[in-house]
Amino acid sequence: MEKAILVLNAGSSSLKFSVFEVPDSGEMRARAVGQVEGLGTAPRLKVKDGDGQRVADVRWETTEVANHAQALDAIATLLRSRFEGQVLAGVGHRVVHGGADHSAPLLITAPVMEKLDTFVPLAPLHQPHNLAAIRALQQARPDLPQVACFDTAFHRSQEMVAQLYGLPYEYYERGIRRYGFHGLSYEYIAATLPSVAPEIAGGRVVVAHLGSGASMCAMHHGRSVGSSMGFTALDGLMMGTRPGNMDPGIVLYLLQQEGLSAKQIEDLLYKRSGLLGLSGIGNDMRVLEASDAPRARLAIDHFVYRISRELGGLAAVLGGVDALVFTAGIGENSAHIRQLVCRQAQWLGLELDADANERGDTRISRVGSRMSAWVVPTNEELMIARHTRALLGL
Ligand code: ADP
Repeated sequence: MEKAILVLNAGSSSLKFSVFEVPDSGEMRARAVGQVEGLGTAPRLKVKDGDGQRVADVRWETTEVANHAQALDAIATLLRSRFEGQVLAGVGHRVVHGGADHSAPLLITAPVMEKLDTFVPLAPLHQPHNLAAIRALQQARPDLPQVACFDTAFHRSQEMVAQLYGLPYEYYERGIRRYGFHGLSYEYIAATLPSVAPEIAGGRVVVAHLGSGASMCAMHHGRSVGSSMGFTALDGLMMGTRPGNMDPGIVLYLLQQEGLSAKQIEDLLYKRSGLLGLSGIGNDMRVLEASDAPRARLAIDHFVYRISRELGGLAAVLGGVDALVFTAGIGENSAHIRQLVCRQAQWLGLELDADANERGDTRISRVGSRMSAWVVPTNEELMIARHTRALLGL
């Protein structure tokens, strides 16, 4: 009987999942990819097969599928009918926060759950939902081994000096430090470079993960030495709806002078800023690129400006940079953004090959360019499946 691994990524109103078939040897293949979205408002299940063909699109009343447990139930029913004869051997979860110590995935046990609960205050918008999905599955299938894979783990290789903030030292000891996120994406890229770009895999590489969330990571020998994201996923680059790095005095001003509540500021920083806030049009880069509105252009220019500043900073951390790698929705698909970023990086010795960039080739810099540029699609789900397989010995 074929074995399968289920990968889950639980958000506040969504539950994304992938099913990977585990062969006796060799790489796993995704057999189904889908999500339940609109939990609490208008729940809907969408599923595609491994080739991207739609296999299900179901809408429910809010009361029918109201929480993660019910969403899991709906997913399980669908998967059972679709994958008869396959046995689910384990579940891998994307868990946003692994705290200061966890540099690797963990098999879920009661003490591990207790520990992960202590990280909820560090990521209150995400961690509770990640843990809720684990608990729901523990209830429904107590026999099923589950693995937690952390977005912070890959960055634990960073030197302490890179993880500090300039606050009194006791704040560092209390956990206020630069954790960095998107670690599963960076880890996947680090694992992929030796086969797709062997000449840079052991070098000094900056990876730009540009999706709705966006960050950059400086890697040396495939290990994280610096990250644009910090204590939370608000830091660093400007993103779809988040402002990225900004003067903390702005938060004080909003609190003290404009009388905003903490909740209002949270909403402003997580949902109303970034590309959306600057453009006034939307957070989807495709929409902004197609727009003639001056503020759409301004938002794009600022997005690129911030990437360029961060690239300069991370290049300094690395003591020079051999390669820039683009990944995630914008990085993989927007030749326009890549071209603007690469033009701004000419001072680092980057010469873009415009045709290769338009085609979306793996290597998009000219032969002989002192610094090279690459497009490498990320696959966080496969990274989670690999960890789960390794930890469970499948
Ligand atoms: P998430 O962080 O939600 O996983 P993705 O990595 O899928 O995000 O990236 C989503 C973003 O990618 C979208 O908001 C969209 O702006 C951008 N994107 C996708 N395709 C294109 C494209 N062809 N051109 C420009 N931007 C794109």
